[in-house]
Amino acid sequence: MEKIKLGISTCLLGKNIRYDGGHKLDRFLTDTLGQYVEYVPVCPEVECGLPVPRESMHLEGDPESPRLVTSRTNQDMTGRMLRWAMKRVVELEKEELCGFIFKSDSPSSGMERIKVYNEKGMPVKKGVGMFARTFMEHFPLLPVEEDGRLHDPKLRDNFIERIFTLKRWREVLAKKESRENLVDFHTQHKLLILSHSPKHYQAMGKLVAKAKEISIKELYQQYQTILMESLQVKTTPKKNANVLQHMLGYFREQLSAAEKKELLEVIDHYRQEYIPLIVPITLIQHYVRKYDQPYLKQQIYLTPHPWELQLRNHV
Ligand code: SF4
Repeated sequence: MEKIKLGISTCLLGKNIRYDGGHKLDRFLTDTLGQYVEYVPVCPEVECGLPVPRESMHLEGDPESPRLVTSRTNQDMTGRMLRWAMKRVVELEKEELCGFIFKSDSPSSGMERIKVYNEKGMPVKKGVGMFARTFMEHFPLLPVEEDGRLHDPKLRDNFIERIFTLKRWREVLAKKESRENLVDFHTQHKLLILSHSPKHYQAMGKLVAKAKEISIKELYQQYQTILMESLQVKTTPKKNANVLQHMLGYFREQLSAAEKKELLEVIDHYRQEYIPLIVPITLIQHYVRKYDQPYLKQQIYLTPHPWELQLRNHV
């Protein structure tokens, strides 16, 4: 697989471009995830023409549509930032990004819970950074996360699973449009989708079943929308345990009663969060290899992202 293109707030890569001349290097993003990703850096404040160092800024006014102002001299930067942001998101269309990692707590780049000050100077943590808002409105289905939230193992696993899935989907889009290619992709991703959302899984099944009745353009468009929406729904131990039990059903003939009991116990221990997801997955992988199970061996659910990232060791 080619590297995945991700947008990122530039200071997370260690560039000294923050208002105080510093950076916010995140080693997981550069050294670990960076092995699989080609970053497209974006620094709204520097790219809209502000110097380094510069006066710090904050949001104020209506949290839904705040103004961006400098904190000491009270200069209003809203128009300047918005004009630049609208232009930049159009430029970013060409990059075919699979997602964006924003710097938390920034009035320009933060994705959520940014302080917005009211007329009495009191902050409420209800804002969205000005560029981050423009980006998310322009690309509503793209996976987005913040550096801080990516320290949460579940959010990290979810985000990385989504960007890898979007990359595989983009590879399908790069080929000639064909119902067969879409059905192949869907078949491989069925259990992954089921682990996020049984509702979307059913909707996609119905869509694929009537693939020949609608135009191929419409099929691709509808499929992409439901796929991206399905992965926005978080997995839970309960949903994963249901998928794992479903997989166990494929070995009904081969496994002994004692092996089935052992696997069920492992799944149950995972459901109760005594052990991480990697444990039942490894056991099932073993049976898939041993019995060469044709349907399960193509399931992306078993390896949605590289093992080296160790994401399922912590969820
Ligand atoms: S938080 Fe955003 S605006 Fe601030 S330095 Fe980082 S990339 Fe630039």
